[in-house]
Amino acid sequence: MQLTSSSQSFIHFAKLVIRRAFVVGQCKNGHVVCDVCRVHIHGTCPSCREPVGDIRCRALENVIAGMALPCSFRSHGCTQLLKHTERRDHEALLCLHAPFACPLHGCAYSGLLLYDHIHDAHTIDYVVSFAGSSWWVCLRRSRPFMVLLDSVDRRVFMLLNGGDIRSGQSLSVVCLGQRPAADQLLEYKLEVGGAGQLGVLSLSACSVPCVRSWAGQHPTDGFLFVPDAYWTSFNSVVVNVHVQMSSEVDS
Ligand SMILES: [Zn+2]
Ligand SMILES: [Zn+2]
Ligand SMILES: [Zn+2]
Ligand SMILES: [Zn+2]
Repeated sequence: MQLTSSSQSFIHFAKLVIRRAFVVGQCKNGHVVCDVCRVHIHGTCPSCREPVGDIRCRALENVIAGMALPCSFRSHGCTQLLKHTERRDHEALLCLHAPFACPLHGCAYSGLLLYDHIHDAHTIDYVVSFAGSSWWVCLRRSRPFMVLLDSVDRRVFMLLNGGDIRSGQSLSVVCLGQRPAADQLLEYKLEVGGAGQLGVLSLSACSVPCVRSWAGQHPTDGFLFVPDAYWTSFNSVVVNVHVQMSSEVDS
């Protein structure tokens, strides 16, 4: 869009700030056009037909960068106004109103009440609820994850079962929830096996990544590798998952 009125241009550039793409170019007569639109006008100014080349309008770029605009999660209740430089951290990590997506296949729920949603809407065998933060889970090898509900703190965890490694599986834990406060640590411990000749496998003091949605990714640092020998003839293992919130000063 080429700029025709101030209110139109404000809305147009506000969208650019949210998209984080705001190089502004201009023709020699000072008509401005954004980098996205410049592609569509094939480098010719729609107002005066002069070329819009590589001349940037830094003054307007600076004005745009300084604009404070609503958080993308305003419709979920956030009232924060954010500058361009603050937006990424706020929306990705800090916003208390950003929704969490249900990880269960075929479910479109996205909201702030993920614990209640899963608890009420999904009564399936790979959702395990426990009054506390320690679970004994029978994990099938073919199951990509189990959902663990902590009914005391009303947090949602996922025990992830990565199948991309030869000769075993890699297990890890993520939280679908708010990050703990800056002085708090959210850590987990996993334990598998110990039956017969096989020793206990364990992973402890591993920090729990807090995410808003899970799209199949597995942590590459911090997982428990469970070799083939630990999986029973029913292709399952029993896993003890323990999650703990502690304050950093204790450790
Ligand atoms: Zn534009
Ligand atoms: Zn022009
Ligand atoms: Zn927000
Ligand atoms: Zn769901």
